[in-house]
Amino acid sequence: MKNRTAKTTRALASPKSGGGGQRRVFKGDPVGRGIAIGKAVLYGARSVSFPKYWINDSETKNEVQRFRKALSQCKNQMDEIKTKLCRIDSRDPISIIDSHILLLQDELLVRNAVSAIEKEHINAEWALNKTIAEIKQAFSKISQTYLRERKYDIDYIENAIQRNLAGQDQGLSKKVEPGSVVVAYDLSPAETIQLIRTKIAGFVTERGGLNSHTAIVARSLKIPSIVGIDAVFDRVGEGNMMIVNGETGEIIINPRASELEKFQKTRKTQIELDLKMKKEARFESKTIDGSNIKILANMELPDEMEFIKAYGAEGVGLYRTEFLFLDRPSPPTEEEQEEIYKTVLKKLKPLEVTIRTIDLGADKISAHNDYADQINPAMGLRAVRLCLRERDIFVRQLRALLRAATEGNLKICLPMISSLDEFRKIKKIFREVIAGLKREKVRVPDHVPLGVMIETPAAAIEIDLLAQEADFFSVGTNDLIQYLLAVDRTNELVSYLYNPLHPSVIRTLKQIMDTAERFGKEVTICGEMAGEPLYLLVLIAMGFNRLSMNPASIPKLKKILRMTRLTDTQKLLSDVLASDSYKENERILENKMHDLFPEYFQ
Ligand code: PEP
Ligand code: MG
Repeated sequence: MKNRTAKTTRALASPKSGGGGQRRVFKGDPVGRGIAIGKAVLYGARSVSFPKYWINDSETKNEVQRFRKALSQCKNQMDEIKTKLCRIDSRDPISIIDSHILLLQDELLVRNAVSAIEKEHINAEWALNKTIAEIKQAFSKISQTYLRERKYDIDYIENAIQRNLAGQDQGLSKKVEPGSVVVAYDLSPAETIQLIRTKIAGFVTERGGLNSHTAIVARSLKIPSIVGIDAVFDRVGEGNMMIVNGETGEIIINPRASELEKFQKTRKTQIELDLKMKKEARFESKTIDGSNIKILANMELPDEMEFIKAYGAEGVGLYRTEFLFLDRPSPPTEEEQEEIYKTVLKKLKPLEVTIRTIDLGADKISAHNDYADQINPAMGLRAVRLCLRERDIFVRQLRALLRAATEGNLKICLPMISSLDEFRKIKKIFREVIAGLKREKVRVPDHVPLGVMIETPAAAIEIDLLAQEADFFSVGTNDLIQYLLAVDRTNELVSYLYNPLHPSVIRTLKQIMDTAERFGKEVTICGEMAGEPLYLLVLIAMGFNRLSMNPASIPKLKKILRMTRLTDTQKLLSDVLASDSYKENERILENKMHDLFPEYFQ
């Protein structure tokens, strides 16, 4: 008798087809607004188990053949992807594929896996997994750098072979036609960017939270999208017609003709409204009683530059530079970064641009990351922690930023600071980099403001200490809420607990603003909360007068501001501060906004 177990989980693709013509409706969390209509493309993989079992002597020959067949199928698939990439002249991905093909033919891999099947009498999946683990172990002893470059490739190759052993579709090699609706189990921020660049109509995923970076990219690049739809990967069939309603979070699979017509009309109206709103964007962001609220834009990719001025931003409050590192095999060089930063600064001059140093880690994992397997990545080696460990990368970025600084109005901001000691360590490096550049006779402005993101509870609590040394603050509510409420922002299972109106969040924000004001420090809110109209009045009542958000939210927020009297917001704030529950806060705000701005809050 075979001892069959199915323990280990891997990301494997699920074979799908057809889907029939039955109309079905499902709901998730809307992230990118707007309506998408198109045919479904099932993309990528989902988590399933692969089997581990013992085999008899007589079965080893077949098992080895099965393994070799999976290897050759995998090689054919890689060749196919390579041919496609050659056509679009994409050199970096081609070199990754080449390294994958080499790995597939790696003698050690093939010999050891075959030997494990033959001598240990284990099935091909298990033998592969065991061999891969041994190779990774051996690499870790040879050299850190070597491992760093290969580990991602090795994991990828294991997944690809396992999928072939399971007879499953690779998914990722699939051609995604412009105008399709991508249906995935999960998408990384890097995959999302790639897909959006192929001009898909929209996407939906099973996994993911409203404030994950995938969601943030989707909002910024204005692509209708929904995350956290239960079992969506199993419910949609390849090629099914779909409507993605990024306003309500609903998808309709195989919609009726009347629904298609209705949503096509809605989409058209929305595009017209968007154009109208854009015209309004150039107006001031001033309340009726004359208070100026500075409205800035968040950006992830240089592609978004065109939206920034068009949507009426008064500068960039947060440029998430880690996105420059995500969809490529090696980090950008100092020169490449300098060019990009210079272009952004020049284009927006004289507007201010706050560039954040890389916040890699957690859900933003680059291909050249050696730390992708942390048990608790959001609390692990992320952002400045990673920069302090990988100093070369950090120094390269600081040098590039400072070299570009004379081109415009630059401020530099540091993510995930959790103590004054940590900030001081970074300041020391910052000073050394400036001194080094000056020795090289590079022109650096006399003062480049260096600010701190307030996004850990520790930083929020000791903001009075940080205020003595930081030039400015930027409140990252996405992480601050995640860490305050102990809710993983990327996990759809606990997204119901992620509440910006939780009394502890409100109190913390109030305390941040009061302290910063006491020290005369400039504060910007740059988390997703800043772009959500429902929270606007409470935030400005607390004193936040700088808000940075995804550009598409700007026109509406400005419009509401122009219809608001700041003095009238104080009563609302005291009601919210006096309340003991987020549900109550939601009710208070929804009622108030509905009364004041019925046109915008239905
Ligand atoms: C935040 O945490 O609110 C923030 C702006 O940073 P990010 O979303 O990139 O973590
Ligand atoms: Mg953050």
